[in-house]
Amino acid sequence: MVSMDTLVSLCKRRGFVFQSSEIYGGTGSCWDYGPLGVELKSNIKRVWWRDFVQRRPDMVGIDASILMHPTVWKASGHLENFTDPMVDCRECKLRFRADQVDALPWTHFCPATKGNKFTIPPGEPCGHCAARRTLCPDCGKGELTPPRQFNLMFKTFMGPVEEDAGVTYLRPETAQAMFVNFENVLQSMRLKLPFGIAQAGRSFRNEITPGNFIFRSREFEQMEIEYFVNPHDRVEGRPADEYWHDRWIADCLAWFRRYGLRDENLRLREHDRDELSHYSKRTVDIEYAFPFTDWGELEGIANRTDFDLKAHEKLSGQDLTYYDQERDVRYHPYVIEPAAGADRATLAFLVDAYSVDEAPTAKGTMEKRTVLRLHRDLAPTKVAVLPLSRHEDLVPEAKRVFDVVKPHWMTDYDDAGAIGRRYRRQDEVGTPYCVTVDFDTLQDRAVTVRDRDSMAQERIEIVKLLDHLRERLDGAPA
Ligand code: ATP
Repeated sequence: MVSMDTLVSLCKRRGFVFQSSEIYGGTGSCWDYGPLGVELKSNIKRVWWRDFVQRRPDMVGIDASILMHPTVWKASGHLENFTDPMVDCRECKLRFRADQVDALPWTHFCPATKGNKFTIPPGEPCGHCAARRTLCPDCGKGELTPPRQFNLMFKTFMGPVEEDAGVTYLRPETAQAMFVNFENVLQSMRLKLPFGIAQAGRSFRNEITPGNFIFRSREFEQMEIEYFVNPHDRVEGRPADEYWHDRWIADCLAWFRRYGLRDENLRLREHDRDELSHYSKRTVDIEYAFPFTDWGELEGIANRTDFDLKAHEKLSGQDLTYYDQERDVRYHPYVIEPAAGADRATLAFLVDAYSVDEAPTAKGTMEKRTVLRLHRDLAPTKVAVLPLSRHEDLVPEAKRVFDVVKPHWMTDYDDAGAIGRRYRRQDEVGTPYCVTVDFDTLQDRAVTVRDRDSMAQERIEIVKLLDHLRERLDGAPA
């Protein structure tokens, strides 16, 4: 598996991800998607939306505002419960999550070796003096404070005056907008259970220990679904909420596989009873074997019961029940919530796509090539048009071919350097097809189409080029 160092450097070098405000030394754990990164991440979101909203009869979408009424966060439990226990170093002032501090390597000034400094693996004692960590793992000098609860929501003020009445929060999840809009969506779309509401958008969490590149940042994008079901129904002999929970786990896992994540890098993890969130009857995480950890959460799929609708009903005074016409009863639906992160998905797709193999050079020898084997629907650039050289007869011809392809898919034009080098550049960013214009093109009105993965080349007449590409890229976001 690719190392994070290699991937982070490729992401920077090739315009996928930059550190936010880099010229000022960077902003803590915020990232900017560059020209190729924005295409990749937006393709992930578009494909997710296409598959889970547009292609399903039981789903609709919304796009709600990030700033919501502050009572939303009281009802949801975020004001009270969205906290992490944290400890501070009294010396260097660094802050750690109390439940994660033992998993860090620790700095130790060993008394048995005249105070020499060692970095000791997490959880292990010093090999010289047998001491275990009690002080700050980073500076090795300060004592840690007792754990305190720290709310992860970003506070801000609505309106021109910074007063308590104006306090609101940047949303820490997109889910709540689906609950507060439940009646609006239900009535305007005349929906019948079971149905789901989806939203993809930004969320903000003032994470205590962010890190690992785009895996954990303070501003990120979520792709969430709230799927409402009648808990009194039975499907295939089981309560409907339990049936749909398992269906969504299977569908979400299948989705990640379909777009390129390997089986061996994916697993399901059931939350223990004592780990469940306050609203959850059962939660299962889809985890991915990220290079920096054994397993990390990619998506959480929770059975939130009727907690949220009832909580909002209580604080808003609005009826948030569903009227079941067939049975002539009103009840609060249960909700199944698949909650994925667009940034973690981007990272996982990049990790699994990264590979190194060998390609023939012009001299007939073999050389290493790095290739991102991204699914064609996700690849940032679908086609690259490359004249064999910058020869004055070839460039205008290649530009004409570029003009033919560009309106249909994200297309790159590159005439700088040897053709082999240009293939390598496109392979490294996952472009599925390279179209080469050579001197024969001027006679036979045909181009060479090269496949990224097999490196096979086919001669295709220019008039048939769009059809040829359409057959291969059909359905991919442009
Ligand atoms: P974790 O345990 O890793 O903090 P979580 O359980 O708090 O994650 P959820 O609240 O279930 O995460 O959010 C749903 C999804 O949103 C996660 O599976 C993840 O993909 C994404 N996500 C959550 N927090 C972050 C973050 N700080 N940076 C990037 N993505 C995030």
